Amino acid sequence: MKVRTRFAPSPTGHVHIGNMRAAIYNWLFARHQGGSFLLRVEDTDRERSTPEAIETLLNAMEWLGLDVDEEPLYQSHRMEAHLAVAETLIEKGLAYRAEKGGPGSGECVLFRMPSHAISFQDAIKGTLTKAAENMEDFVIVRSNGTPVFHLANVLDDIEQGITHVIRGDDHIENTYRHIALYEALGESVPVFGHLPMIVNAQGKPYSKRDGDAFVGDFQVNGFLGDALFNYLALLGWSPGDDREIMTRAEMVEAFELERCQSSAAQVDLKKLSWMNYEYILQLSDRDFRGASEAALKQAEIVFSESQLDAVIPLIRERVKTLAEIAPLSRFLFMDDYEYNEKAVKKKLIKEGVPETLATLRQLLVEIEPFEAAPLERLLHDYVEQSGKGFGAVMPPLRVCISGEQGGPDLCPVLEVLGREEVIRRLDRAVAKFFDS
Ligand code: GLU
Repeated sequence: MKVRTRFAPSPTGHVHIGNMRAAIYNWLFARHQGGSFLLRVEDTDRERSTPEAIETLLNAMEWLGLDVDEEPLYQSHRMEAHLAVAETLIEKGLAYRAEKGGPGSGECVLFRMPSHAISFQDAIKGTLTKAAENMEDFVIVRSNGTPVFHLANVLDDIEQGITHVIRGDDHIENTYRHIALYEALGESVPVFGHLPMIVNAQGKPYSKRDGDAFVGDFQVNGFLGDALFNYLALLGWSPGDDREIMTRAEMVEAFELERCQSSAAQVDLKKLSWMNYEYILQLSDRDFRGASEAALKQAEIVFSESQLDAVIPLIRERVKTLAEIAPLSRFLFMDDYEYNEKAVKKKLIKEGVPETLATLRQLLVEIEPFEAAPLERLLHDYVEQSGKGFGAVMPPLRVCISGEQGGPDLCPVLEVLGREEVIRRLDRAVAKFFDS
C-alpha cells in the first residue's frame, strides 16, 4: 500500500504552529515512507476562508518547504458530492432527517451511530475505545443544507485516497464518528495518529498570549523556515537519540510515528532561538548576504556593495534572527542613530571622559594605517599608559560612534567606518554632550 497523507487546514488568515506541526509530521511520514503528501483546503467557512487566508496558508507551507505531490483539493468544490452521499445514507437507513432543534427549526440529516463500541489502534496513543452508550447520532447536513465537517472530512479523505490521518488529539472524539462513517460507507478505515497538543509553561494550549504562535510571526521576526521546521519536528517527536539540529534528509530518514510522544509538548521559545542561531551560522555566505541585503532594504538603509562586504563579517556571528541584522548594523551605514539614553548616562557623562576623548581624537587622527589591528594596539597602549582601564576608554568611544554601549567588536567597527567618519562622529558627540 502506498502511503498517502494530507494536511487539511481550515484557512483563517493565521496558521498556528500546532497545525503546522501536524502538517510537518504528515510530510515527514509521507517522505519517509516514499508516499505522497497532499493538501486539502477545508474552506467551507466562506467568511473566514478568504483568498488572502488561503494565500497566507500557501505561503507558510512554501516557507517551511512543505511541498505537495498533487493539486490541492478545495473542500468547498465538493459540496454536491457530499450531499449526494448523505442522500444515499438516508436511502440505506444509515441516516435520517429530523428537526433537531425542535419543531420549526428545519430538518437536518443525522447519521445513525451503530450500537456497538468503536475502537481503533492509534499510531501514537495506542488502543482507544468509546462505548456505544456514550455515542449519539450526529448531524451530517445542517438544516440550511450545508454538509457538516464530519461528513466532508471523511468523504474527502476517501476521495484523496488518504491512508494515514495524522492530526491533533482534539479530534479524537471526532474520530469515533468518522470511523462509524467509514464503516457505514463500506470504506477501509485509514490509520489514525493523534498528536498531543502544544502547550505553554502552565500546560495550557499554547496561544498568542504566550508569545508568537502563528507561522507568519516567526517569518516576520527573522526566523529561518528550516529552523522552525526543525524545532517543530522535535516538538513531540524524537529520532531516538539526542540529535537536535538535523537536516531535512536526516529527519525524513529517522521519522516514525511510533516515536511521537503521547503527552503534551511544551513550547520553549528560548530553544527555538538557539536553534535559529545555529541555522543562521550554517547559512552559506551567499545566503547570509542575500538575507542581509533584504533586511537592510526593508529598513530603508542605504548601502553600497563594498560597505556590505565590510560589514558582514562584523555581524555574521552576532545575530540570532534575521530581524536583528538591520538594527545591529544600521550605524555602520548611516549616521542617523539615536544616542541610547542609558548608555550616555552610564558610559559617557562621566568625569574624565572629555579629556579621554580629546586624547583619543588626537591619537586617531595620527595613527597609520587606520586598521583594526593597529587600532587595537593603540587603544591597548593608551589604556595601559593612562592607567584608566578599558571601561573608561572603549565604552565612551563606542557610544560616540554608534549611540550604543554594545555591538560588534570596536576596532573592526572603527576600521569599517574609516578615520574621517570616526572623527566626525566623535566631534559631533562631544559637541552635543560636552560643549555648552
Ligand atoms: N480542518 C480540520 C482542522 O483544521 C481538519 C482536521 C483533520 O482532519 O486533519 O482541524
